[in-house]
Amino acid sequence: MASVYSAVECPHCGRSASEDYYYKISVGYIVCRRCGYNAVRSCMPEEAIKYGHEIQENLGYGVCCQVSADGRRKMTLLNCYPDNLEEFKLEIENGDPELKESYLVTFLDGVFEIILGNPPENFHLTFEEYKEKMHEKYGGFEEFDGLVPIEN
Ligand SMILES: [Zn+2]
Repeated sequence: MASVYSAVECPHCGRSASEDYYYKISVGYIVCRRCGYNAVRSCMPEEAIKYGHEIQENLGYGVCCQVSADGRRKMTLLNCYPDNLEEFKLEIENGDPELKESYLVTFLDGVFEIILGNPPENFHLTFEEYKEKMHEKYGGFEEFDGLVPIEN
């Protein structure tokens, strides 16, 4: 079934999330790589379930981006507050000792805390700021049918 992919405002942290939206039955798969929030939402839940989409919502408590020496990137969405932060840190430092691209961020009570590394510039923008930046970079959204391009 056809879907469109666009950046949207994360309902949990207000920064930019991405959504895979199946417009015919208005089901959206939303993933936030800032706070870790992810959900399947729909304004027609009964239709959605009929087509096999499971409506759910998982709050975010942060993200862990690990880039290994051979360039493989692993993004972990934290759906509960990590009680093993030290383990995460060690694992990251083993794979990317200079912390060139890896980072670990927690999100609790609306506050982001960078535990390790340097998240990309876009990470820090609110959705409005992000949208503005994409607008300047790629031109008018008319061409994208109102969709906002997704960047890490
Ligand atoms: Zn978020």
